[in-house]
Amino acid sequence: MPKTAQTSIACSQCRQPFRVSVHSVIDPTDNPQAKIALLSGQLNIYQCPNCGTPNSVLTPILYHDGSKELLVSFTPMELGMSKDAQERAIGELMREVTSSLPQGAFKAYLLQPRSALTMQGLIDQVLQADGVTSEMIQAQRDRVKLVEQFLQANPTTLPELVAKYDAQIDAQFMQTMSLVVQQFLQQGRQDAAERVAMLQNAIVELSTFGQSLIEQNQQQEMAIAEVAEQVNAMGEDATRADFLQLAIAYADDPQRLQALVGLIRPAFDQIFFQEMTAAIVQAPAEDRDRLNALRQQLAELTAMVDQQSQMALQEAANLLRVLLSSPEPDAIIAENLQMLDYTFMQVLSANVQEASRRGDVAASSRLKDIYNRVVNALQANMPPELRFINEMLNAPTDFEAQQMLAEHGPAFGAGLAAAMDAVEGQLAQGSPAIQERFAMLRRAVANLK
Ligand SMILES: [Zn+2]
Repeated sequence: MPKTAQTSIACSQCRQPFRVSVHSVIDPTDNPQAKIALLSGQLNIYQCPNCGTPNSVLTPILYHDGSKELLVSFTPMELGMSKDAQERAIGELMREVTSSLPQGAFKAYLLQPRSALTMQGLIDQVLQADGVTSEMIQAQRDRVKLVEQFLQANPTTLPELVAKYDAQIDAQFMQTMSLVVQQFLQQGRQDAAERVAMLQNAIVELSTFGQSLIEQNQQQEMAIAEVAEQVNAMGEDATRADFLQLAIAYADDPQRLQALVGLIRPAFDQIFFQEMTAAIVQAPAEDRDRLNALRQQLAELTAMVDQQSQMALQEAANLLRVLLSSPEPDAIIAENLQMLDYTFMQVLSANVQEASRRGDVAASSRLKDIYNRVVNALQANMPPELRFINEMLNAPTDFEAQQMLAEHGPAFGAGLAAAMDAVEGQLAQGSPAIQERFAMLRRAVANLK
């Protein structure tokens, strides 16, 4: 029997019917997403594809986690089911759980499900089985309450309020705020999400914790700038051995070491680590412990950088899904401009190619439409210098590009040359023809009066 049931519901707001899959048996081994949805209060809540209203579907739920011997049932009171009907419904879900068990896996806890009276009670039992104590749950609830208090406060009293609760404003509080933003976004409540995000920024500015965050970020940025300068000074012919020397120089400086790996992650490949191992063997005995520790640190940093780019890819893929399913992609594009970066464009073009390869004409044309909309939005939001450079690069002939430059170039002043220098690096992946035209235009710009 399926653990999710396909059914049709009518939107509570616009009455539009749509199909949803309702989860009644939650087993994190089979479906970790359903557990996450449960814990974030999003289980069986479905956004109407027509008007965006979140619709909640009430159903008896059986939560089963064999690894923790946890079995909890919950029947929403709003269903108004009699005790008998509740038992029958849970009994049916029980049969689903036991029938999918491997042979010999039946254990005593399966005979006696615990029950939860409320959804929150179910969530608490699941969290407790994960080792989250009731004090931790209470602390988290207090954080959510504090977020609500900030949200309801008159903006003019915010500085006062932040000063009052300054001690409670820490990393976990900030995480809670980010979580609230995500929940609103999942519910399609863009406005509410933006309000919380703006409030969060204001609290960062006003709180002691936020101030130390800002300071840390500034130090980090300085470290990155400094390391970038060092790497650039090494020139294009730098070898892995050179990067190793630089890493050794930063061995006692985690911030600069992290900046180094983040800036030139591809240099820290398998061959680098092989070469480093060989170098350690040949190093004087008294240096080896220090070098081994550095090797370990570098391995951890590369893993961290990879994980972060994985997350960025995931975020880009999520945004693309939202765009594809939205009747008004332009509005979403406009609201997420800062997310439409290089990673997003990579994910988008990979999807376009994949759809063409599959021969899926409908998906491919939908993706290309999104691509064009994104490019248009990005161009419309470009600084005028960049837009002009782009137009010159896209002109049909070199001659027309030169004419454009002669006509409009002088009006941009020195900003045009600076903008060209700034984009030069990004063109490395462009076609040779584009690069040639760019070089020609750059020379011409230098000669502009
Ligand atoms: Zn609706």
